[in-house]
Parts: sequence; C-alpha cells; structure tokens
Amino acid sequence: MNCDASPARKPGRPGGDHRGSAASRRARKHWLLSQERWNGNGESCDCALGIVPECAGRVTFQTVEADRIVPGGSYGRHNVQPACRACNAARSDKPMSVFAVARAAA
Ligand SMILES: [Zn+2]
Repeated sequence: MNCDASPARKPGRPGGDHRGSAASRRARKHWLLSQERWNGNGESCDCALGIVPECAGRVTFQTVEADRIVPGGSYGRHNVQPACRACNAARSDKPMSVFAVARAAA
C-alpha cells in the first residue's frame, strides 16, 4: 500500500528544478571551464577537488561535474566548482574542510 503523494517534478519548468534547465546546466559547465582560478581555457579546466588517486586532473565539457562547495546549497556560481566524476563521487556531500585536512596530512 503505497500512497506516496510526493509531487512529480516537471522537467523544463523555469525555476522548478534545483539544478536548472538543460540550457542553464550547459551554461554553467561552460562558465566553469572558462574560469582562470581553475586554469580554464573554455575547453577544459582543472578538477577543483583532486582528492582521489583516480582524479582525472583536467575535465572537459563531457566530463566536468558541477560540485557544490556547500553541499545541498545553491547551484549559483558562487557555490559551484568543477570536479571530475571520481572526485565528485568520493566527496559526496562531505564538507570541503574534511578534504582540506586530508590533503594537509597527506
Ligand atoms: Zn578530480
């Protein structure tokens, strides 16, 4: 007996999806790939995490993932950084401070 009444998210509804529309996700990736602080050149940029040996190092439009600096926070540009899939999966929703310590100790 499943009476789950959670509302279905309608894709493409402006502002209805946390991550934004496909177009805004694409725009965000292009933005991440063009930022100087991650050595972006518009085509690729550095993975901002670099927390696992499998880290890809550089990410491209095909491989970049928008990692939220504050987990569960907004996908606004102040709160996203480029990450490769391996690092993003390893980080999950842990705060960055966990990894700052881990990197310092390594
Ligand atoms: Zn990485």
